[in-house]
Amino acid sequence: MRISLPCAALLAVALAACQPIRPDAPTPVATTAPAAASVPADDNLNAVLWVQRSAEYQAAAIQTYRAAAEYLDKALAEPHWDALVPSERDNHGHGLKPAVVLDIDETVLDNSPYQARLVRDGLEYSDPTWDAWVEERRARPVPGVLEFARAANERGVTLVYISNRAVHLKQATLDNLRAAGLPVADESVFLGLGTVVEGCEQEGSEKDCRRRLAGRHYRVLMQFGDQLGDFVHIDANTPEHRQALLEEYDDWFGERWWMLPNPTYGSWEPALFDNNWRQPREARRAAKRAALDVAP
Ligand SMILES: [Mg+2]
Repeated sequence: MRISLPCAALLAVALAACQPIRPDAPTPVATTAPAAASVPADDNLNAVLWVQRSAEYQAAAIQTYRAAAEYLDKALAEPHWDALVPSERDNHGHGLKPAVVLDIDETVLDNSPYQARLVRDGLEYSDPTWDAWVEERRARPVPGVLEFARAANERGVTLVYISNRAVHLKQATLDNLRAAGLPVADESVFLGLGTVVEGCEQEGSEKDCRRRLAGRHYRVLMQFGDQLGDFVHIDANTPEHRQALLEEYDDWFGERWWMLPNPTYGSWEPALFDNNWRQPREARRAAKRAALDVAP
């Protein structure tokens, strides 16, 4: 059959309309749009946008806190239920007041505006810019955490915050937590970086001494974090050791330990470039590219 030119054009349009569309396909851009020639590349652009603009991030955080709240009654009813690893507990924990231990950044407070500013300005993390952001006291609560905190409060469970925010940021942090609607029973529930724990020597930013301190006062029902180190001491920050820890405590997650999603930063990243932040950005990026799993 011979097809006239106008008919052929119509058929081509009709066939194009029948092409399957990937559910995650980008919206087509008009061909007349100017080329974005000078948009700087940033490793964190998608990750920060996912946290700030996706329904998926919110759903993941909400379902984590909602599921944890469902476990509170079970945890309270079982006297031996404990979310501290045995090596970090100095006592039996029985009969102590119940508490949950939470990390702060990207666990209860969302600092994505700080990350967004770094992307906008082409910068990387630095202590002065971080401290300035914390002093603003404008971090918002992570989705779902306020509902969990309410459920914990109703059951007499104290929220203890173990954070690597340094102790000189304590007041700004407590102000921000309160402004965000999170309960702060008293100032002792903030255990920042630099907290002195009698009989325990702090190793870098590891949190085990502060978990031990919390365990002296509380039966710890649950822990919440966005990093493996929020839950257990990391002897060596290598992909292999991190994987081994995940497997060792596999059945603690989703019962005693609750992980929040944070694609924007974390110790998983330097584990991919030998924890050497002194390397130029390009060298770190090259190491990360080399770590891609392309299913060879
Ligand atoms: Mg954190």
